Amino acid sequence: MRSNSAQNLLVACSGAKRLTIGFDAAELLRRLSDSRELTCPGCGATVILHAGIVRAHHFAHLPGAVCTLPASEPETEEHRAGKLLIARWLRERLPDADIQLEAYLPETAQRADVLAILPDHSRIALEYQCANLSAREWRRRHEQYRGAGLCDMWMLGGSRLAVGTMERESSDKAEDGQAVLRTGELERTLFWDGAPLMFLDAAGERSAVGTLTRFRPSEDAQAHRPQGRFVSRPLLELAFPFALLNWQEHSHPEEPTSVTSSSQHGSGAPRSQPSSDFWLWQWMTQRFRVTPETLPEFFGLTVNGAEAISCDPAVWQAAIYYRFVHRRIGDGWWLGEVETWTRAYLPLVKPLRLPRLRTALANFQEALAAAGMLSLPMGYGRSNARILADMTTLPAPPDRAEVLRLVRYRRTLVRENAAAYGG
Ligand SMILES: [Zn+2]
Repeated sequence: MRSNSAQNLLVACSGAKRLTIGFDAAELLRRLSDSRELTCPGCGATVILHAGIVRAHHFAHLPGAVCTLPASEPETEEHRAGKLLIARWLRERLPDADIQLEAYLPETAQRADVLAILPDHSRIALEYQCANLSAREWRRRHEQYRGAGLCDMWMLGGSRLAVGTMERESSDKAEDGQAVLRTGELERTLFWDGAPLMFLDAAGERSAVGTLTRFRPSEDAQAHRPQGRFVSRPLLELAFPFALLNWQEHSHPEEPTSVTSSSQHGSGAPRSQPSSDFWLWQWMTQRFRVTPETLPEFFGLTVNGAEAISCDPAVWQAAIYYRFVHRRIGDGWWLGEVETWTRAYLPLVKPLRLPRLRTALANFQEALAAAGMLSLPMGYGRSNARILADMTTLPAPPDRAEVLRLVRYRRTLVRENAAAYGG
């Protein structure tokens, strides 16, 4: 008989108390199980302790039970060992925190592998991800956590860590100790979104049991074969890396604080206010190390609709490029997402002129496609596309005039096609 392994639990409840395999005495668990006093933390149904010799100890529902607890990934020995190791590490490093395994969060309908509740009530979800996860699914789960006010930290299974050798050509230029990370979609997504890349070898797949390896990509790394440095340490020796929880802070430009309301409270004297693109530059310099002096000349294309955006075209075009294209080859591009981001982070003319803004973004999208950076079927302005290249991988920097000529040419073709087929 096979049970649904996703419902094999490491945690059960006895009344209000949470009991964890590997932490609470096995004798106590067995006694409570025998007297049917253990319940599932998700659905509240009775669970019993399976403590055989062949399979790892776990709690399971009674046969035929239908559990409402959302399944995480299929349980493997590595995943199970990793969750227990992370919980042990957190209990040692954050002794004042409440550490819960397999914690169900009703507000996100997610089950966190390990949840740490700090004395100030802030919460950190640790996910130990061994199975692959699509970009879309990882972003959904990440955004749910952040939306509910939690910090999420992801550690990947040691079985996912694959180190490749450098190509000879590039290894000549590379510094000592550099290697290439072979990436799946999950690694690429973390890389694209700027999240730390950490691999925990909980089952001794590639290195000693309990080794945490952090990959630090080099400045110009691309997600498909990123070069960088691998640093390994036993997890239990590491302090809790609070600094890594803030990785997302730099993923968006910091919004200007009360720029519009400040004039109402002002003394009437002209205030020296930073220009509307000051903070965009700050963000681009901090995160992408690009300055007005080093900005590629390509940006600043004349596009229709640009009057809806109240900053220099070179600045908004660069901001969109760095946020969605730069070092993201293979990632998806969706104009709807670009529009949402633009409305949240770029300075726009008030009142909002949405049709103009959409025209500007669609035109810029066409220019990126004409420059060879986006795959875009001709004439289908709102479809999904993929990032094909960026400024660092194009054979030559795109020429502005050349790109605009190509955009006009493509438009003519589209019009002619439409006329020829009566569209
Ligand atoms: Zn249940």
